[in-house]
Amino acid sequence: MTHPAQPKASHFINGAYVEDTSGTPIPVIYAATGEEIATVYAATPAIVEQALTSAQAAQKIWAKTAPTERGRVLRRAADIMRERNHDLSVLETYDTGKPLQETLVADATSGADALEYFGGLAASLTGEHIPLGEDWVYTIREPLGLCVGIGAWNYPTQIACWKGAPALACGNSMVFKPSETTPLCALKVAEILIEAGAPAGLFNVVQGMGEVGGQLVTDPRVDKVSLTGSVPTGKKVYAAAAEGMKHVTMELGGKSPMLVFEDADIENAISGAINGNFYSSGQVCSNGTRVFVHKDIKEKFLARLAERTATAKLGDPMDEEVNFGPMVTENQMNIVLGYIEKGKAEGARLICGGGRAEMDGYYVQPTVFADVTDDMTIAREEIFGPVMCVLDFDSEDEVVARANDTEFGLSAGVFTKDFTRAHRVIGQLEAGSCFINSYNDAPVEAPFGGVKASGVGRENSKEAIKHFSQVKSVYVRMGDCEAAF
Ligand code: NDP
Repeated sequence: MTHPAQPKASHFINGAYVEDTSGTPIPVIYAATGEEIATVYAATPAIVEQALTSAQAAQKIWAKTAPTERGRVLRRAADIMRERNHDLSVLETYDTGKPLQETLVADATSGADALEYFGGLAASLTGEHIPLGEDWVYTIREPLGLCVGIGAWNYPTQIACWKGAPALACGNSMVFKPSETTPLCALKVAEILIEAGAPAGLFNVVQGMGEVGGQLVTDPRVDKVSLTGSVPTGKKVYAAAAEGMKHVTMELGGKSPMLVFEDADIENAISGAINGNFYSSGQVCSNGTRVFVHKDIKEKFLARLAERTATAKLGDPMDEEVNFGPMVTENQMNIVLGYIEKGKAEGARLICGGGRAEMDGYYVQPTVFADVTDDMTIAREEIFGPVMCVLDFDSEDEVVARANDTEFGLSAGVFTKDFTRAHRVIGQLEAGSCFINSYNDAPVEAPFGGVKASGVGRENSKEAIKHFSQVKSVYVRMGDCEAAF
């Protein structure tokens, strides 16, 4: 019997599942058990070609479709996703290992929000009229054309929707390549869009490793590349896209600061630190992994943090009581364990966790280090696992300077009851997505993205429209056209 997570085929092209077993097999491993639950095959050049050809043809039809109709298709897709939330969440859990308790509320639901939001905006994407005396200029907001989306493995449904929904709302088509680690969920997004009435070829999914991503990025028919991934991959993809003068959105990694001042509500600040370090077992790009705590409240903060972290429920991700799952792969687990060893070796004080959990699957204990200093490896590099670094500080100016002393700039958070200070400090932090007395909220209505090495462009909100469309201006002369000779 095939596993319930086994997809009908590896790719979704031109409105239907497509298989080509001559590509490299990619085993899909359930992180909670290490069991192989499905196999997909990397796209061969012929599959990539089919996807690009069908996307190019569909885009021409879609761009001529009335915007209200485009919006309706996206909103219907949102409704279908919500109706199937349970099944989609189970699949997301198989794909990533994240607990069902999380996937039921954070993945298909977030994808549906994006489809609904951008579906609602589709009909309002207009240009403007600029009067110039007798003459005038009008502008037209046009689609970019054929877009490529490349996803990371932590939020496979959400990433496909966060890229696909604004792209489609603007009249583009998309070829999406999921991470080879989590290839299943994006296929369901493609299937649902077809069911909702999207033309065949509008949203295609092809599987493969970085090599397939590279083929897509360098194809001359592609107008835009939107990547969610690490900074090193972002640099490669950005450079390849620049070669063809393509538009880009880069949603990359981070090492974000969370600042807890001495007047903060400690329980709330600990909630923020837990959400911003242990949700999805720490596999979240915007996580506040450098938790700067004022020295006056540090020991109290650490004591309560350790108490609360000890109540994390590790176990079978399908059990809705479980709130802490495994790392996505054995390899990711080993990377995280390597960082934990570096933390110990470099002299950080281990408060809790500190190793692999004794159970099947790729579980790492939620880990907190205190007395972390700015130069330690665990304070400088993105770990992408459940490892929280607590650093002390004395003064506001000092902590702002230290928080900004990083190549990254994705997120930042401030916990304080002093609202003047909160806004003053947030104003100085070099980060794209910030929080006051909260952490890691990412509603579709708010722009999301980073500064510095953490990225270029923004996802979600009206900002995303700017990154999936371009403006044509048309000068209209009412009188004669004058010339020098
Ligand atoms: P990677 O950078 O390893 O991979 C991202 C995607 O790019 C994958 O689909 C990968 O394929 C593909 N890829 C790799 N090399 C190339 C290439 N040369 N050309 C085109 N595509 C390529 O990231 P991970 O999947 O390991 O995800 C973790 C990273 O993603 C973290 O750094 C995290 O911070 C970041 N991230 C950022 C988010 C944000 O919104 N800012 C959100 C979530 C994660 P394959 O893996 O199949 O080889």
